[in-house]
Amino acid sequence: MRAAIFNGPGIIEVGERPDPVIQEPTDAVVRVVLGCVCGSDLWYYRGESPHAVGSIGHEFIGVVEQVGAGVQGVNPGDLVVAPFIYSDMSCPHCLNGSTISCAAGGNFGNGQIDGGQGEAVRVPLAGSTLVPVPGSGHPDAVLRSLLALSDVMSTGHHVAVVAGVKKGDTVAVVGDGAVGLCAVLASKRLGADRIIALSRHPERQQVAREFGATDIIEARGQEASQAVLELTRGIGADAALECVGTEASIATAFAVARPGSTVGIVGVPHGQVPFAETFFRNTGWRGGPAPARIYIPELLGDVLDRVINPGRVFDYETDLDHVADAYRAMDERRAIKSLVRVGAL
Ligand SMILES: [Zn+2]
Repeated sequence: MRAAIFNGPGIIEVGERPDPVIQEPTDAVVRVVLGCVCGSDLWYYRGESPHAVGSIGHEFIGVVEQVGAGVQGVNPGDLVVAPFIYSDMSCPHCLNGSTISCAAGGNFGNGQIDGGQGEAVRVPLAGSTLVPVPGSGHPDAVLRSLLALSDVMSTGHHVAVVAGVKKGDTVAVVGDGAVGLCAVLASKRLGADRIIALSRHPERQQVAREFGATDIIEARGQEASQAVLELTRGIGADAALECVGTEASIATAFAVARPGSTVGIVGVPHGQVPFAETFFRNTGWRGGPAPARIYIPELLGDVLDRVINPGRVFDYETDLDHVADAYRAMDERRAIKSLVRVGAL
């Protein structure tokens, strides 16, 4: 089969990988319909995080082709959403809701295991990992939003959940990438009253507004923190959501969080949490990779009911042959998030 191959920083090529086959009774083979490029793929692309040479891409939806004898709940022909990590849903970590730390789990597209930027994927622990989508004949806009559940929308939801966003809250979202925009949508969905988005890009501001942002701040750094404090009568946000991962954005999130609040952090951290400052303001932080498998069933209903449309973050599209363009467009910030159309339904 054909698949995107990571051949080192800056080098994404389309190459051949072995056709996936059932190796364990708990495996399924999924034919990929839509895949996409993640902000974390960009860290690898830019050489800022290590990645093994080989398969890449951890977000996909597809159609089940084949299942092993031990797979229950997922059948050939099912349209499925894959969370970016596979998990058994039965180990202590999974039962505690932390599927990311599943004792038997692993990452798609890590160089070895098939990635979502390819024609097909062998999915380990398929019965507990894949989430079947009810119904049929879903329009493309719905498929795009289902793809977003694989990672980006689940991550946006996670950052809002861990920061404790609730009805009536004032939320500040640091970062206008796809995750930041999904964090706006998730905050709105959880009932936030006021959502302040930090963004300097008109097309991203537009999506933020569509997703529920009430205020846009174009400034950066201290000027941005000052503007959020002014909007919140000097108090700060009930929840600050950090969706970038740089030292500067982490500092901004803590500067705009009101004392006693919890900062959510889902940007892959490339900076330090200001420990002493957080201590004296009783500010906590939570975050990390989202347990997407836990969130997908809940968010899926809202996608099918057209309550949320996180697929709106995809503003650039290629086919598998041009997957390198999908990376370039995001790297050069011409795209919020690139969709890779791999196969038909
Ligand atoms: Zn587990």
